[in-house]
Amino acid sequence: MYHGVLPRTETTPAVLRGNIQADALERHLQWLSRYARVLSLGEAIDLIRSGERAPPRATVLTFDDGLGNQAQFALPLLERYRLPATFFVATDHLRPGRILWHNRLVLQAVDEAGIGRGSLEALRRLRDWVESDPNANPSERVAQRYGLDVASLPVWERLRIATQGMSTDQLLSMSRSPVVEIGAHTVTHPRLSTCSIEEIDRELTDGRRTLEAIIGRPVRFFAYPEGAWNDRVVQAVRRAGFQAAAAVEPADGPLEDLFRLPRLAITRGSKLRMVAKWAGLTGPIRTFRRAVGLRVPTAPG
Ligand SMILES: [Zn+2]
Repeated sequence: MYHGVLPRTETTPAVLRGNIQADALERHLQWLSRYARVLSLGEAIDLIRSGERAPPRATVLTFDDGLGNQAQFALPLLERYRLPATFFVATDHLRPGRILWHNRLVLQAVDEAGIGRGSLEALRRLRDWVESDPNANPSERVAQRYGLDVASLPVWERLRIATQGMSTDQLLSMSRSPVVEIGAHTVTHPRLSTCSIEEIDRELTDGRRTLEAIIGRPVRFFAYPEGAWNDRVVQAVRRAGFQAAAAVEPADGPLEDLFRLPRLAITRGSKLRMVAKWAGLTGPIRTFRRAVGLRVPTAPG
């Protein structure tokens, strides 16, 4: 599971470290194209359904949110290495000038605290504030406090690239690529586990309908925003007619549960780190580092 893909540069705000730089992504894809067997999500699901054994080192690539930078930087790399991937797109930020609430908080954090580590703390404070009222729609809450208009914030190209959604043209041309499948990711990217059933249904059906109207083909797969699901949410996703849904946790969940497909978050650039995680070594490496008294690195956000 990847998120944003950014062009290479020396200065990356701390709050953008959940994104990967394009050259690092290329090294990952190069490695995967040589040593892994990258399947499309659809192929993987057919295999799971059939009960057949997956080929050794079977791997599925997904990119969340539907950011413009994914169309710009991830798509050409996937096409170069001929690796299939699924992009889960939240539809609210397909509209020009709109930005998803968690990216609005990223901009706000940098505005308040600059690009250093302070921005991470500012972001944590802002997210705590959003979560202090878990039942409120975070998108509305953020818009009410900070406005929808991001034009007032300092324009820094890197932040714009990191936070802007795809255009509908980008989405359409991505959907036409033979290596791409488009999946749904709601409209406003709420934590569905805190939504009413009406809100859940609306987020699921409106998001999917918008995508299908743009790309002109059925959207089969879904990913839970923020990885947040509960039984009610899973039922709603099934009811909405999706064939499978990608979660994050539990990372070691059974693959047979098509509506809680576990994923590994790849947030750092290092190929070694990606490979370790991919190979399931992250847990043992952490235990080892702790045992020999080394500092255990923790990922931000
Ligand atoms: Zn997301």
